Amino acid sequence: MSTPLPTKAIPAKLGVGPHGLAALDYSILQQCMHCGMCLPSCPTYLETKRERHSPRGRIALMRAIADGEYAVTREFGEEMYYCLGCLACTTACPAGVNYAELFETARADIEQHRVLDTPARRGIRWFALRLVFTRPRLLKVLGRLLWLYQRSGVQTLLRKIGLFSLLPRRLRELEKQTPEVRTQFSDSLVKEVEAPYGPKRHRVAVLTGCVQDILFSEINHATVEVLRENGCEVFTPRNQYCCGSLHAHNGDPEAAKDLARRQIEMISPESVDAIITNAGGCGSHLKHYDTLLADDPRYAARARIWSNKVHDIHEWLVKISFRKPKEAPQQDQVITYHESCHLCHGQKIVSQPREILRSLPGMTLRECAQSSHCCGSAGIYNLTQPATAASLQAQKVARIRETGAHVVATSNPGCHLQLQIGLRDADDSMIEVSQPVLLLARAYAEERRHRTMKR
Ligand code: SF4
Ligand code: SF4
Repeated sequence: MSTPLPTKAIPAKLGVGPHGLAALDYSILQQCMHCGMCLPSCPTYLETKRERHSPRGRIALMRAIADGEYAVTREFGEEMYYCLGCLACTTACPAGVNYAELFETARADIEQHRVLDTPARRGIRWFALRLVFTRPRLLKVLGRLLWLYQRSGVQTLLRKIGLFSLLPRRLRELEKQTPEVRTQFSDSLVKEVEAPYGPKRHRVAVLTGCVQDILFSEINHATVEVLRENGCEVFTPRNQYCCGSLHAHNGDPEAAKDLARRQIEMISPESVDAIITNAGGCGSHLKHYDTLLADDPRYAARARIWSNKVHDIHEWLVKISFRKPKEAPQQDQVITYHESCHLCHGQKIVSQPREILRSLPGMTLRECAQSSHCCGSAGIYNLTQPATAASLQAQKVARIRETGAHVVATSNPGCHLQLQIGLRDADDSMIEVSQPVLLLARAYAEERRHRTMKR
């Protein structure tokens, strides 16, 4: 450990009960055998080469807290918020350490002990986690207001007159990264129930997500289209709730549980063959509703059915032997693939997106070096740790450019945005950022266009 943490115990605070690291099943903390195999895969360790910024170092701190040797302090809080939660360590670990559970428990402990608390932080957390991301209609209203601000020319005008130059540097940087809100959200692009194109083989539900719905609604539309092409009747509930991954990863397990119950009420898991998600981060969390609600007598059994039925879209398409498209929307393009951390490390879905990409006529998949290394997006990491996020983003963009690809595909809205901004900042807007399912939907649409032309 390069910097020992203070051992002085902080006074108990309101709401801190018998939970957190001290109450965690100790066998989870004991899994780590300190072999160090995870170190070369950990982006924060690679950035700093400091043991405390490694999985092994963080687990040692957590265990020390559970043993009562250290306290949950501000330093510990900062350490755990420096961790990306990318779960690359879980793929590398030969002992099968359940880092996801350790990470979420540690962050919940930090929030309950309020060691990072400031009035501004508390306000932002309440606004984002408790207000906006628990009210789908409010989120859409805010999205619509942002759209108006962008489309009315006000944003361009304010940028032209240099008003943003008066902001502190951090806010200036953030303003430049404001993503473009879509004109139509998912509910206007897909009906609540869509029939398959051809005989019905399955009935599935589609989750539209929060960020995905507002910034990448075309991906939700494409998801429904490829499902219809593959014999699925698709149920897409209106005004969907957030899945709660943002809450679970940011130390608010109670809100995460509440949102999980709402999801189960919204889509009765018994009524469908599969529940489909197309965002790696959401999918990784949605598959763990069984553990999240294990102690809830009303929901535990249904949560188990839910978890069994959640499928990432790529996983589901391969499972049902999706139909390979015949026509190419564009000829002879090179495509590369950036793996979302929570898709490859969290859900271990590695080959399926590639199988879809390889099926695209006219496209050649060229692998990107370190394709599973985090791009620095990691939820809101690029807002909370801008320097490390920018460094990881620059490394990722350089690797993508090395491939000479025309298109880079990825499967998480955070990564999608991070790559778009990174490529734009590197003055490389020639590389399109896309999603395997979006490309597959395009290929199917091209087939339909050819069929119509031949008639
Ligand atoms: S989750 Fe990612 S950043 Fe955190 S310890 Fe594991 S590999 Fe390192
Ligand atoms: S690879 Fe696993 S067991 Fe080894 S140090 Fe890392 S977390 Fe511990």
